[in-house]
Amino acid sequence: MRSASLVLLASVLALGGCGELKSQFLAGHPCAVAVMAGTPYDMNDPGWLTSDFKQNRDVCAYKFFAGFFTAGYNTEIGVTMSGDDPHLRVLQEFKKQQGLDSTSFMNAETLAKLDDLIASLEPKIAALAAKFPFIDRMQVMHPNDVSKETVAAIHALPFSVLPPKFAMSLDETIFCVVVQCVGSLQDAEGNALVSTPLAPDVDYRFVGAYFDPKVANSRLPSASVSVGAVLHEFAHYIDGQGTKFPAFPVKASVDTNTFYIFNYFHPKDSGSCAPRSTDDPMAWISFYGFSGDTSNECDPGQSHVSEEWAESFAAYVAAGKRFNAARQSRTQIDRKYIMLKHILDQREYDSDVISGTHSGCTDVPNPLHLQPGYLSCSESYVFNWTLPTK
Ligand SMILES: [Zn+2]
Repeated sequence: MRSASLVLLASVLALGGCGELKSQFLAGHPCAVAVMAGTPYDMNDPGWLTSDFKQNRDVCAYKFFAGFFTAGYNTEIGVTMSGDDPHLRVLQEFKKQQGLDSTSFMNAETLAKLDDLIASLEPKIAALAAKFPFIDRMQVMHPNDVSKETVAAIHALPFSVLPPKFAMSLDETIFCVVVQCVGSLQDAEGNALVSTPLAPDVDYRFVGAYFDPKVANSRLPSASVSVGAVLHEFAHYIDGQGTKFPAFPVKASVDTNTFYIFNYFHPKDSGSCAPRSTDDPMAWISFYGFSGDTSNECDPGQSHVSEEWAESFAAYVAAGKRFNAARQSRTQIDRKYIMLKHILDQREYDSDVISGTHSGCTDVPNPLHLQPGYLSCSESYVFNWTLPTK
């Protein structure tokens, strides 16, 4: 009897102090409390998808999935394979990296490790979130979703490493969100606010792109891919080929004429189509840059010119190491790097975060494209919420 209690005590201590959860994200949450109290949860929950095949925030599997997102894991793992099971694949990847069992269960040992990792990141996420202009105006999120600080940090991190000339006033930030930047604004009841200026008395709220409590997602891009998306959309916003507004000085503030000439003949403006000057995808940093937005067709023989600018800007900041290495491959890549370095006031980035599979990465199973392969979509990558500069 006595030795049995000692064994029990020892195993409880091994879990980090009476099974207590340290992260704000997990502590006190009913899904987490039940697991720590000794009821393992099978992540292979039949309720994972809603009746219209979206990821279901109402099940505990989503809470833990949101935990892996916060911990920097790739929540689109398996996207190039058949099956809607990134929640199971990311659990397996986490367990593999942590040396845990390979069952589909979230048990106390696994959750304690996830909790440790999230707790170690929360101060960094909170410090970033404090810089986000809408941190006190975040729409109320689903209780099983990531924290509002996590959403805010996705948006604040890129701006924390860009030159000060790209800092926007609050009015311009609102404008950017409404016209181009990632995310949207709603009133307190969740109605979309789609025009600026906002009514002076409106109680507006910020909603992250995959975090609207009223909208279930068919996919959840990882935090690192989300940071890249913030940079990509901001690049479109600052593209000097777009329309300028005197009240919003950051909008269309970068002269991109020369950039477009690296890959296209006679591009007219950022929304335009033009013939490519070569059909070699290796002259583009990203396959999406090469293909353009194919949902919006160009005439035969022409492509959208503006996506490579946005992809290159994002890659320069978020995947600086790979972009720098790719300069050896094609002169167009080298010229883009040099031009971006000038635009970013000589800043260079020692960053290496992953991109979405549209980038033409080749380090995933069944890659969607075989070129250019400069960027990574590694399924084992873990983002640490940092974009280091050189
Ligand atoms: Zn774009």
